[in-house]
Amino acid sequence: MILDKKHALQQKLFRQFAETEFTKEILDELEETGEFNWEMHKKMAQYGFMGVKIPKEYGGAGCDNLTYCLMDEEFARQSAVLALYANTSNSLGGGPLLLAGSKEQKEKYLPPVARGEKILVFALTEPGAGSDAGGTTTTAIQDGDDFVINGRKCFISGAPMADWCILFAKTDLSAKGSRGISMFIVDMHLPGVSLGAPEKKMGIIGYPTSDVVLEDVRVPKDCLIGKLNKGFQTAMKTLDGGRLGVAAQALGIAQACLDESVKYAKERKQFGRPIADFQGVSFMIADMATDIEAARQLVYHAAQLKDAGSDEASKACSIAKYFASEAANRCAYKAVQIHGGYGYIKEYKVEKLYRDARITSIYEGTSQVQQIVIASNLLK
Ligand SMILES: Cc1cc2nc3c(=O)[nH]c(=O)nc-3n(C[C@H](O)[C@H](O)[C@H](O)COP(=O)(O)OP(=O)(O)OC[C@H]3O[C@@H](n4cnc5c(N)ncnc54)[C@H](O)[C@@H]3O)c2cc1C
Repeated sequence: MILDKKHALQQKLFRQFAETEFTKEILDELEETGEFNWEMHKKMAQYGFMGVKIPKEYGGAGCDNLTYCLMDEEFARQSAVLALYANTSNSLGGGPLLLAGSKEQKEKYLPPVARGEKILVFALTEPGAGSDAGGTTTTAIQDGDDFVINGRKCFISGAPMADWCILFAKTDLSAKGSRGISMFIVDMHLPGVSLGAPEKKMGIIGYPTSDVVLEDVRVPKDCLIGKLNKGFQTAMKTLDGGRLGVAAQALGIAQACLDESVKYAKERKQFGRPIADFQGVSFMIADMATDIEAARQLVYHAAQLKDAGSDEASKACSIAKYFASEAANRCAYKAVQIHGGYGYIKEYKVEKLYRDARITSIYEGTSQVQQIVIASNLLK
């Protein structure tokens, strides 16, 4: 696909921002401390990245899914973790409100999220309900004008910095499976909300992830988003969009693997010649480029289908995520291989790319879950 002028310009701007602002010093600090970089968050917010996909009437830039993918791809090409900084507000955070929120809820919550003044995260996964998210055991029981929430969510990206979270809880305890689940927006500073210790992760270090524990948390009923007992459907629709973002993130990581490998293969000499001269190495580079080109077409095509409101969009987003995330892992493997022993050393970028690539085939639905979604779309 050839980008039109508008998208090509946006791509250039995202690339320039990431290449200039995501400095080695900042990336090293993220990796060493594991802490959230508030200064970078503020800078990205000033540029409007937190609200790229949020409609203008709610304080965002109102861009389309293709622009959002270009942003994720270009940011992840420089830093998979900093790509996440601008991602959640546009996908799993803002998405559910846009899909199911009332006008009042959108007006209240989206503008501060788009401006980066508030951080909104997505809390679906539980210790016993991961791929089977319908197995949610967190409960929200109506009590007068309130709901009282009890349960535990795990692996919640951004929870330690969050002001609000989109939370899924069972409201009809007699309903089986994924039925009877509702969606709420919960103030993270309410009594009864606490956090687990930040997880020590393999990759995407510098965007803390933790459990969220809810003990008799009382939320007013206007925190219910969408219809009672219909939250699971919104969760699944939100994840369609989220998966597209992960696919674009994976694409950026894969491209970075290729960038580093081409450079290194031309510089590194063995047997008196650059290793790029050896067919065994050059074929790995050709395979990476082929994987990346195919992933890029799938990601951009899925974004366009989503923008067009196509019925094919959900399947296309899963296909894009499945392929791009597995491709990123293949490219990261080859990039480390091309770097030989140096690829195993932290000083070289590919060591981190290898670790960062790994999450893309796990979160927002594992590759096996994407296979289930793709197959069920075809076999229904
Ligand atoms: C760093 C990180 C950040 C995350 N951020 C968030 C977040 O912000 N919000 C949130 O809600 N969640 C988040 N998650 C959770 C993430 O989405 C889940 O980890 C993921 O969906 C998998 O669930 P699980 O870990 O329970 O694995 P499981 O579901 O236990 O899966 C284990 C294995 O079994 C396979 N499997 C399971 N069921 C099937 C099946 N039916 N058929 C074939 N294979 C199957 C899986 O593919 C996998 O290989 C995050 C996770 C991580 C690690």
